[in-house]
Amino acid sequence: KFVTFEGGEGGGKSTQLRLLADALRRGGEPVVTTREPGGAPGAEEIRRLLVEGEPGRWPPDAEALLHFAARAEHLAKVIRPALDAGQWVLCDRFADSTLAYQGYGQGQDLSWLQQLRSQIVGKTEPGLTLILDLPVEVGLGRAREQQRYERMGRAFHERLHAGFLAIAQAEPERCFVIDATRPIDAVSADVRLAVAKRFRV
Ligand code: C5P
Repeated sequence: KFVTFEGGEGGGKSTQLRLLADALRRGGEPVVTTREPGGAPGAEEIRRLLVEGEPGRWPPDAEALLHFAARAEHLAKVIRPALDAGQWVLCDRFADSTLAYQGYGQGQDLSWLQQLRSQIVGKTEPGLTLILDLPVEVGLGRAREQQRYERMGRAFHERLHAGFLAIAQAEPERCFVIDATRPIDAVSADVRLAVAKRFRV
């Protein structure tokens, strides 16, 4: 019962995650919500190094390794214990974001990243990944409304967008692409439908 939310900027991942958590809890299900980079004490420290540092602070390979270092702790301290206890784990971004941002976006070798992924994540792959998809133009417009600082430029975000769709195409069993240009309620209904179908709840 491990669900991840993925996609570029402005797709509403955190809103949709919260709405799904609310819906599951109303049904009496135990739910842990978390995020990456971060989600555990050391991983949140690494998040600050990654997200709050000045752009270009880290060479891209170092950046990818920091994401996986954070993820290793997050898995050990939060995700695996919760799954072992039978709880739902809803995570805002996970390993697909590393593939998309550091791989497709920043040009790090995809097979190297996949190798790290299989070493660090192992069998704890999400049962379902919801990719909230919207055109770069629309996403960046929304992100600007939220005053999110945009550093990487348009071309980067186009590679990111294509990357998420390639990931979805490579693993159609796990990944479900949702059109996130629609109103929150319509997106949220699709999220619940995908969860119900995948986990038969
Ligand atoms: O989830 P959220 O969009 O808030 O993520 C925070 C920021 O971290 C994003 O704006 C994204 O640019 C960055 N990030 C990244 N590489 C990742 C995951 C997130 O650069 N693998």
